[in-house]
Amino acid sequence: MDKIYDLIIIGSGAAGLSAAVYAKRAMLNTLVFERSFSSGGQIINTYEVDNYLGLPEISGYELALKFREHADKLGVEFENSEIIAISENEGIKCLEDSRNRKFYGKAVIIASGAGHRQLGVNGEERLKGMGVSYCAVCDGAFFKNKTVAVVGGGDAALEDAIFLAPICKKVYLIHRRDELRGIKILQKQVMEIENIEILWSTVVEEINGEDKVSSLRVNTKGNVYDLEMDGIFIAIGIKPFSDVFKDFVERDENGYIIADENGITSRSGVFAAGDVRTKSLRQIITAAADGANCVYSAEKYLKGLPS
Ligand code: NAP
Repeated sequence: MDKIYDLIIIGSGAAGLSAAVYAKRAMLNTLVFERSFSSGGQIINTYEVDNYLGLPEISGYELALKFREHADKLGVEFENSEIIAISENEGIKCLEDSRNRKFYGKAVIIASGAGHRQLGVNGEERLKGMGVSYCAVCDGAFFKNKTVAVVGGGDAALEDAIFLAPICKKVYLIHRRDELRGIKILQKQVMEIENIEILWSTVVEEINGEDKVSSLRVNTKGNVYDLEMDGIFIAIGIKPFSDVFKDFVERDENGYIIADENGITSRSGVFAAGDVRTKSLRQIITAAADGANCVYSAEKYLKGLPS
């Protein structure tokens, strides 16, 4: 007879580890899946986290370590592999991993996170955290009085430019077309801010710099030149890691799993926490809160109580 866990958590970022800690304290027999070799999810790519309560100026890597240490201290059980399929039989959820093993759980928390879309140009990967950022709210404060670029023309890019303008000396908004995609009200605000300059029909071809970003090679309709730059914020969309769950729980048009703040999804006993779920503010602190809420919901589900 295969072992049936009370709870299986998919993901070991802030949401998954927070859920693991709450689950252990609730004495649920719990297993956590993480697909990379380090816990923390997107946090480990953040140079410095300055907005997590009580831990100012901590590096993303250090915060991720602390999260993992906390889970280890409580004896959380981890499996280092990726979930590639999920199904349900008579209320028991069956998860298959990349090594073709099957795991069974009465309840599941999906905390698989999301990843920022990448430009895919030279220098992007190498200078991540050294001037290349995907989160203006997280990293904007490090560019006080500096010159930065925001790439993209959607709501996120416009919001980033607006957020960065009062902090930075100059903000270039680099968009590949001659028309913005974002909502009109944000477009209007961007146009009205003096230190935002829009580079229309322009693509970034390369990000230059030794140990930090120093310039961008840009191409405006065939005119290629280098633009001195201290930082680049890439805001060309986010992709939730939810494809494996697409026939299992309902997702919105952008692939986010539809769930409220209690994590309740379209499927009974399956909860979603953190960046993978529908929500308006994707931050470490909101992911951690989701993890706690999901365990509370899972406990009620396991006890047969109404949600
Ligand atoms: P988005 O709406 O998909 O916009 C992505 C932008 O990046 C587009 O302007 C696109 O250019 C550009 N882009 C995509 N791939 C690119 C590439 N390889 N190189 C250069 N540019 C590229 O993404 P988002 O702005 O992250 O927004 C995602 C969703 O969240 C949207 O539904 C948005 O409405 C929502 N959101 C809402 C708010 C809000 O309501 N306040 C804030 C943030 C996000 P093209 O225009 O040429 O396609």
